[in-house]
Amino acid sequence: MPNKTHLLRQLENISGKDNVLSSPEVLKPYSHDESATDEFNTMPVAVVKPESTEQVAEIVRLCAEEGVPITPRGAGTGLAGGCIPVEEGIVLSLERLNRRIHIDPENMSVTADAGISLKQLYQVVEEGDLFFPPHPGDESAMLGGIVAANAGGARAVKYGTVKHFVRGLKVVTADGKILSLGGNLMKSSTGYHLMDLMIGSEGTLGIITEVTLSLLPKPGTIMTMVAPFKTVDEAISSVLPVLNLKIIPFAVEFIEHSTIRCVERLLNKNWPVKSGTASLLIILDGPDEDRVLETAEKIGKELENHGALDILIAEQREKQAEILELRSMIYEALRPGVGELYDVCVPRSEIGGHVQFIHELEERIGVPLPTIGHAADGNLHSHAMKYRLEDGEMKEPIKDFAEKNSLLEREIFADVFKRGGVISGEHGIGIIKKNHLIANLGKDAVDMMKAIKQALDPNGILNPGKLF
Ligand SMILES: Cc1cc2nc3c(=O)[nH]c(=O)nc-3n(C[C@H](O)[C@H](O)[C@H](O)COP(=O)(O)OP(=O)(O)OC[C@H]3O[C@@H](n4cnc5c(N)ncnc54)[C@H](O)[C@@H]3O)c2cc1C
Repeated sequence: MPNKTHLLRQLENISGKDNVLSSPEVLKPYSHDESATDEFNTMPVAVVKPESTEQVAEIVRLCAEEGVPITPRGAGTGLAGGCIPVEEGIVLSLERLNRRIHIDPENMSVTADAGISLKQLYQVVEEGDLFFPPHPGDESAMLGGIVAANAGGARAVKYGTVKHFVRGLKVVTADGKILSLGGNLMKSSTGYHLMDLMIGSEGTLGIITEVTLSLLPKPGTIMTMVAPFKTVDEAISSVLPVLNLKIIPFAVEFIEHSTIRCVERLLNKNWPVKSGTASLLIILDGPDEDRVLETAEKIGKELENHGALDILIAEQREKQAEILELRSMIYEALRPGVGELYDVCVPRSEIGGHVQFIHELEERIGVPLPTIGHAADGNLHSHAMKYRLEDGEMKEPIKDFAEKNSLLEREIFADVFKRGGVISGEHGIGIIKKNHLIANLGKDAVDMMKAIKQALDPNGILNPGKLF
């Protein structure tokens, strides 16, 4: 580690005095992300906020020379501890790289700085009468962050995850070179796909400074339906019959009512159905209201044939917005009591079995595990709670939570491996899940990843301590 004052002066020479932070109180927000545990929170030496790709490259060259680790950071909404820095390192925050966003209607694409937020993206894209389907839950997330994490969200079942929309990236390498990877292209069979290597690399292979994304025509209409079931098992089992109608909904989520009760309390709003213990939330998109309504009715009939107690179709925007708000606030509502948030992904056919296993585990180990899931794509989120839950309220603490949770972790992951799944569907490995990567992917695959890391960042200055 070089002399700290000297390092700060050099960083200030690149990005300006006001854009280099080093006092403890201003560093604190950069010591963590939105993951549930504070076990890994670490203060960096400094935070630097460059405003251009060239400044990012200069900072990386300086850090490479001085041997200073760099942790890239978008909005810090990650849930795997990916942007948590190391003590002797700096945080490179992309928050000021947020000026340029350009829609290209002819190529149906958008090119933007990595610090543009999802919220800004949706707004500009909508104004252009176009559509960016992926919707990872927190709209403050930045474009560099969603690409680095290969974020997912509820709409992956029909449209795929972020990686399916990335056409081009501008990246600063570990030795400070600026590379343009991919392009504004729909196809390329031209050499190794270096751009794809950057997607989901969690800041360990390069720093993304600009992103080109594919867009689609905006759907004419969006409709939301809710169907309650007597049991969560019935709700999950009725997803396949819907897909067998040859309809791929925009999103299919299952939500247990005991979980949504926490959000009802937080927002003082009601889930639109009362009967049953779990609901399917289905979102449909299509060219016009009549056709989407026809599809909704077809799905409704199929769900009733498979035990749905009721079918609610929300056509008005306000009603849809209220339902989606309740769904999107689940993490917020549970967060004060969450000890660990699981993000596993299993083959679609294994969801029912895994959820059943989760509930057996809940009983056996004595830790509440409210679970929600992207029911049609196999990605499930179980929240290991540090408190007993009763009617949406957190009650007394769970005794010996830490030991019980490590047992849970082992058992949940073992069940996921048995079913051919992975430990992260969309949040990434970061610092939180890295000890399970070999068990999941095998030593040979992880060794290959390490060889790539070694080739692209031989001195290990980019986001050390993550993934491996
Ligand atoms: C309430 C809530 C709901 C969420 N819902 C979803 C969801 O439905 N689906 C989903 O997938 N995720 C979800 N997330 C997680 C999170 O929003 C995503 O992981 C998002 O992609 C993180 O973006 P960010 O800009 O905040 O990145 P950060 O958290 O800042 O960083 C994430 C990782 O990317 C790296 N990184 C960031 N920027 C760059 C860059 N420019 N170049 C290189 N590396 C970089 C960091 O080092 C880190 O490893 C949710 C989070 C919250 C708080």
